[in-house]
Amino acid sequence: TRIREGERIEDAPLERANDVKRIKPSEESVKARLANPKLEVQRALTEDEAKQEASRCLYCANCGVCKECIRTCEADAIWHEEETTTIKEKVGAIVIATGFKNFDPSIIPQYHYKDPEYPDIITGIEFERYTNSAGPTEGKLIVPSTGKKPKLIALINCVGSRDLNYNEYCSRYCCTASIKHAYLLKNKYGSDVEVLNFYKDIRTFGKGYEELYNKTRKMGVQFIKGVPSDIRKDVNGKIFFDSFNIEIDKNIRYYPDLIILQTAMEPHDDAKKVAETFGLSCSAEGFYIEKHIKLAPVETASAGKFIAGACRGPIDVTDSVAQGAAAALYAAELLSSDVIEKESITAKHDEEICIGCGTCIATCPYGAYTLIEKEDGTVKSSLKEILCEGCGACAVACPAGAISIKHYTDDQIKAMIETAFAEEKDLQSPTP
Ligand code: SF4
Ligand code: SF4
Ligand code: SF4
Repeated sequence: TRIREGERIEDAPLERANDVKRIKPSEESVKARLANPKLEVQRALTEDEAKQEASRCLYCANCGVCKECIRTCEADAIWHEEETTTIKEKVGAIVIATGFKNFDPSIIPQYHYKDPEYPDIITGIEFERYTNSAGPTEGKLIVPSTGKKPKLIALINCVGSRDLNYNEYCSRYCCTASIKHAYLLKNKYGSDVEVLNFYKDIRTFGKGYEELYNKTRKMGVQFIKGVPSDIRKDVNGKIFFDSFNIEIDKNIRYYPDLIILQTAMEPHDDAKKVAETFGLSCSAEGFYIEKHIKLAPVETASAGKFIAGACRGPIDVTDSVAQGAAAALYAAELLSSDVIEKESITAKHDEEICIGCGTCIATCPYGAYTLIEKEDGTVKSSLKEILCEGCGACAVACPAGAISIKHYTDDQIKAMIETAFAEEKDLQSPTP
């Protein structure tokens, strides 16, 4: 029985259970879906419908908000009125695996993506939904503008990747994704469909991917090395583009029924904000930077913070899973260890010289400094060495010269430079 506001548990009549009618999600009409296949079959609930559905007592032995537990719990441990709160916890390790966002190809005018005049241009992710039995077309591949099965399908790779106007880097996953899409099409529709794959280079590193590429070629998919021109429409409204085919040394015009864009992997819009929150370093693109690209790929410059997956850079599922497991193991090792190993290269703070200006507090990305008032009334900064990662930023910023870095004092660096030049001089003027 649901308890209504202001009502005592004892007064709630039992027969009120299940007295709210279930809400069935409405469906898009077939006509609407044929006109716009991007629509899902089932619509989401409206806000009012969702509220009504949520107010229904399920009475299913899970929590039906009958509040009987309050009456029976002798320890008085149940509190139904608890509200959502923000909790601050001190933790020993953090794994940051915030993923990626898809590049939006509508910012490249030549592709006309999301242009209502060009509905037959979709992304690889949308193709995945189209061919999924739970997707908007219940797994049937159709041309959005006609509702008919496509005959000629063009896959265009590197959309938003390896392009100095958008992202210089290779997104790593999309060649294989594109080959997989071509394979699925040929496997399902055979000679009923012709599949063209336009590529800059085919990059199929990864177990079994080169074999899939070869298999897909044998199935009849045409791989064309070239970048398609602007997508346009002819007088009959048919979409087309040109591409130079280097194998036959000719510019060819193609009239596909459906175009699938393989889009780049990008960092989330708020990736830099998240990096600031967790004290991580970001690349110019917004991917998080590891401690060492080869030897410490999931560790960061800050002890106890690990990164995994696409927030670190473009990656495929296999490598994401491996990185996630590695990061979790590093975190577990840290938490289960009684001793923490630390680099001996840390800042050295001279309190005598410090003038208490606070510059080091603002400079240190790891929060290693605080300002303290001394017994004589002077204000000085205080260094918590365990938090220091030895980046050297505070030593450069301190206006009083009160900070040095152990093993890298000015005198030591000068001595290294002098020695290096002395050796060079010795080499240039060998003793007779
Ligand atoms: S993986 Fe292939 S499609 Fe993706 S950006 Fe690299 S070369 Fe282009
Ligand atoms: S920046 Fe230098 S002088 Fe200023 S508080 Fe820090 S250690 Fe002291
Ligand atoms: S060297 Fe200075 S700025 Fe860098 S982590 Fe240590 S205390 Fe912070």
